[in-house]
Amino acid sequence: SSDHARERGMAYYKPSRDSYSADRLTLVSELRHALQNNDLALFLQPKLSLKTGQVVGLEALIRWPERAQTVRPDEIVILAEQTGLINPLTRWVLEQSLSLRTRLMEHGWELGMSVNISPNNLREPDFPLFVQRLMSRFHTHEGTVTFEVTETSMMQDPANSLTALNSLSAAGIPISIDDFGSGYSSLSYIKQLPASEIKIDRSLVSDLASQSEYRVIVQTTIDMCHSLGYQVVAEGVEDEITAELLRDMGCDMIQGYLLTPPLPFDEMLDWLRDSGSQQRMLG
Ligand code: C2E
Ligand code: MG
Ligand code: MG
Ligand code: MG
Repeated sequence: SSDHARERGMAYYKPSRDSYSADRLTLVSELRHALQNNDLALFLQPKLSLKTGQVVGLEALIRWPERAQTVRPDEIVILAEQTGLINPLTRWVLEQSLSLRTRLMEHGWELGMSVNISPNNLREPDFPLFVQRLMSRFHTHEGTVTFEVTETSMMQDPANSLTALNSLSAAGIPISIDDFGSGYSSLSYIKQLPASEIKIDRSLVSDLASQSEYRVIVQTTIDMCHSLGYQVVAEGVEDEITAELLRDMGCDMIQGYLLTPPLPFDEMLDWLRDSGSQQRMLG
């Protein structure tokens, strides 16, 4: 569908290239406006257990429908981080995620929800309190909303990030390390984080089937993560062969276009209904 074509992208705006241009200022004010007017959207992508074949959770991913052809989701986030909009944006994403999760439960689906968090959020002193209040407002049980943070972003401010993640984790929010293996990593630092899950970056996963070197790297990563007590998710799984390889390697979960690209709420509901896997149903 056209949504999926859009997912795979076109000629995108790059905010970093022209930080002071009039275009950028217009875009920032448009984004602020979109946030205030509820013109942003969340798409959802399932996470599947390779052990049980069940969908175990959904990742919420930001979309700007009016700008879908020109501003990529990670560029929305960069723009927001550069202009102080990231805190209201994350709060909107969180509230929206919990609200979508409630609607899913009304349709009989009880699924965990993963939300991407920016390092800026961890610098807000009242962020953990905001999260706790939101969770109690939505009657969200501990362990059902996971925060994804990238290893690279934590390294900008390691001590503060560690403190903030500890307090979120203590409040019942599982922490997932996103894009693992994509950049510089400090294993001794990561080991200190209160994380329960590691997501192996797409760049290591996408060539698994065609290049045997990647199999060695991914197998070693999975084994190491298991030894350290983490659940392992492979990102960007696009074909059956890769999924089979990952299953044989002992990987716990997969995400990727093989299952589906991220979808709007109603389409996700249809996808869940149509998907062959046996879901955990309520009641
Ligand atoms: P991420 O958290 O690592 O999300 C995975 C990205 O990979 C998503 O891109 C998803 O659409 C894409 N993807 C999933 N499966 C496949 C696949 O099989 N093949 C390929 N080629 N791509 C796949 P998306 O939605 O464009 O998001 C990009 C990044 O932007 C995210 O990476 C995350 O770092 C950031 N992001 C998205 N939404 C939010 C948000 O609400 N808050 C924050 N702070 N960051 C967000
Ligand atoms: Mg993520
Ligand atoms: Mg990722
Ligand atoms: Mg990423």
